[in-house]
Amino acid sequence: MRTQLVAGNWKMYKTNQEAVELVSGLASLVEGLGGVEVAVCPPFTSLADVSRSLHELGSGMALGAQNVYPRSEGAFTGEISPPMLKALGVTYVIVGHSERREILGEKDDFVAAKVRAVLDEGMTPILCVGETLEEREAGGALGKVEGQLDADLANVRPEEASALVIAYEPIWAIGTGKTATPADAQEMNSFIRGRLAAMFGEATADKVRVLYGGSVKPENAAELMAMPDIDGALVGGASLKAEDFAAIVRAAS
Ligand code: PEP
Repeated sequence: MRTQLVAGNWKMYKTNQEAVELVSGLASLVEGLGGVEVAVCPPFTSLADVSRSLHELGSGMALGAQNVYPRSEGAFTGEISPPMLKALGVTYVIVGHSERREILGEKDDFVAAKVRAVLDEGMTPILCVGETLEEREAGGALGKVEGQLDADLANVRPEEASALVIAYEPIWAIGTGKTATPADAQEMNSFIRGRLAAMFGEATADKVRVLYGGSVKPENAAELMAMPDIDGALVGGASLKAEDFAAIVRAAS
């Protein structure tokens, strides 16, 4: 039985003070909701204070980071290492988000190195995969995602794979208000699980949480997460308002 995970990706939004206010409001709204794990992924600048707030509030919400550099230290100006995140109480790290692949040009081998580095530090990568609209319309969605999984998980050993979180995020649905239909998202998530079974074995693939992300809102969350291979959501825009994010968590709980 997989526990649903609802993770909020705050992207490049919220000053430190705003982030602390958001997490405080959210903590009271999601308190006591069972059967679901909740994570918030603020910008690097507020990880420390959000971590402290979660601790002071006694909240069970997990802390996630939006990115990482795949080396433990060194002359990498502007970058943040896995041990730095771990020391702040971070347990999840988003890796391979399409905004980083598309805007910052991150390639699969770099994403694979990040997956490895996050696992080496005892944290959980949330690996994002997904196709563009052109790829979907050309019938290439499954092939694109298969290629990303094969490349990005190339350094993962079978015995550590069950802890992975994969987020299927069709690029055309991110921040656009367009959502994959529950049936289309289920088809892809089931395909992802099948690919994981081929790579790591069926028993392992059964334990991996495969999320959906792409314009998840309070209005569509329940029907998406009711699908058998959708184990939660990675939420961008709607995670920036405590009431909306809490409503999505409620739909998963
Ligand atoms: C995301 O950034 O991972 C995301 C899914 O964004 P949104 O919910 O805004 O589409």
